[in-house]
Amino acid sequence: MIGIYIHIPFCTGKCRYCDFPSYSGVSSYYEAYVEAVCRELSAYTGDTRADTVYFGGGTPSVLPTALLEKLLHTVQQVFSLAPATEITAEANPESLRREQCEKWAALGINRVSLGVQTFHDALLQSLGRLHTAAQAYEALQAVAAAGITNISLDLMYGLPGQTLQAFKEDIQTLSRLPVTHVSIYRLTVEEHTPLWHSVQAGKERVANAAEVEAMQQYLYGTMRQMGFEHYEISAYAKPGYRARHNCKYWRYEPYIGFGAAAHSFDGQTRRCNVRSLPQYIRSCTTSGRIQEETRIAAARAMEDYCFLALRMRDGIDYDDFFQRFQVSFGSQFGRTERRLYEQGLLQRTEKGCALTPLGLAYGNYVFSRFLR
Ligand code: SF4
Repeated sequence: MIGIYIHIPFCTGKCRYCDFPSYSGVSSYYEAYVEAVCRELSAYTGDTRADTVYFGGGTPSVLPTALLEKLLHTVQQVFSLAPATEITAEANPESLRREQCEKWAALGINRVSLGVQTFHDALLQSLGRLHTAAQAYEALQAVAAAGITNISLDLMYGLPGQTLQAFKEDIQTLSRLPVTHVSIYRLTVEEHTPLWHSVQAGKERVANAAEVEAMQQYLYGTMRQMGFEHYEISAYAKPGYRARHNCKYWRYEPYIGFGAAAHSFDGQTRRCNVRSLPQYIRSCTTSGRIQEETRIAAARAMEDYCFLALRMRDGIDYDDFFQRFQVSFGSQFGRTERRLYEQGLLQRTEKGCALTPLGLAYGNYVFSRFLR
């Protein structure tokens, strides 16, 4: 079964570190955009059996609920959703209200992913986030009170001015909250963002390697003690609460994206919709071309498979690799694998191989070894 991704490219404001395809101050586009996505959905002719729906962004919670409802109804008309389909909506605390959560729950949204990033107001401000820690707690309570029990939080570390102690407090705070899943990312300073300019000019400093390592050491041990399974490089789940939609990306399973800048993958071909909002709306309205296609050569597909699978603690399954590519993992990557064993970055598992705890900290290096 496939996963459905719907991109909502709207935000209340633009965070200083963000290079995602999202726009603020364009509420006049909301209706036309939703209409365009509904057209794209209605024109879809591929496999219609799905078991995950993900409204991502941007910030889906800025969209009026009636428009989100229209999108979800169109999804339900076009696709045959499995019983207990995971339906996730991303939200930010400044744009999520209690009555909205109740309506979302009534629509069938059964998982909310809340962008919190940190519980320290000064750090939130320096990131250009538009909410406070108090608003994050309120939003969480609103989601839980609406009866949505599968709640994920996004946190970040390695922030400018973030001390190890501040990060520890963020992690300790999780034990008091009704969350089932946490995604914890190291801040990446993307080129040409306001944060990047400031760092380049020497006005701000992000955490150095030693500081990041100290945060990671604390993170891995403490999340385990709190009962979270560290199942993907940046993702932690209470038992039974892995993000089913995101697992499709890491397991090289098919997904289909709708909306501006949305990506799709059918097992062989990757497609990406145009990024520009006006162009996307125009193209959908006039049935123009909205996608660019990249057919993935077998060699590249194997590399992609390896580093996506290695993101998960389950790692690479040799039999699954053979089923997909009709060659053995060892014949393609045996030498790379041995070298990474020697370096203590990779370990054997029952079904194949996976990152060691050391490999987790050097994930990007390990992934790069699989690029030929
Ligand atoms: S809320 Fe998310 S998508 Fe929107 S500007 Fe901030 S980081 Fe970017």
